[in-house]
Amino acid sequence: MESRDYLFKVLVIGNGHVGKTSMVNRYVNEKFNKNYKSTVGVDFALKVLAWSDTETIRLQLWDIAGQERFASMTRIYYKEASGCIIMFDVTDSSSFRSVSNWKEDLDSKIKLAGGGPLPCILLANKCDLSPWDVPLSTIEQFSKASGFIGWMETSVKDNKNINESIKFLVERMMEVS
Ligand code: GDP
Ligand code: MG
Repeated sequence: MESRDYLFKVLVIGNGHVGKTSMVNRYVNEKFNKNYKSTVGVDFALKVLAWSDTETIRLQLWDIAGQERFASMTRIYYKEASGCIIMFDVTDSSSFRSVSNWKEDLDSKIKLAGGGPLPCILLANKCDLSPWDVPLSTIEQFSKASGFIGWMETSVKDNKNINESIKFLVERMMEVS
């Protein structure tokens, strides 16, 4: 049987301090670092997935830093991306309000070859903390109305739904690739 290799560039965006770098670290290095360093610029991380007997997927995760407060990136940054993760912090409603800016920025700067929006998942991070500052029903409604492929509550700290949510995104990227 012939084997196939896929390379997917995945953008990880959202406001500062929501947990993006921690998530990439958790997913790629399988650890949670409490004493994080705020990155400047862009960090890349690579994860290789043995997807099936014949399919290997290379996920290139692009983690932004420093530009978060503008809720906007340059077209160059989005170029050739296959999917996107937009993250907010459930205890920080302003990070949730910014999600629509991030999504609009994304959709205005990159589209699939067929013209549709890039597969994008919404992650409600820090679900281990309480109280939540954003109601579940609001997230649900917003996710549907804004064209996300779906949303999940995640905790990078407790390693909840990190692998699951990325797998969900990868499945969608495989469908449209
Ligand atoms: P970034 O600016 O979006 O890259 O966010 P960081 O990954 O630097 O994380 C910001 C802070 O949130 C750090 O102190 C992390 O330890 C913390 N953090 C990240 N994810 C979680 C989580 O799921 N739960 C809790 N309680 N803290 C988290
Ligand atoms: Mg960061």
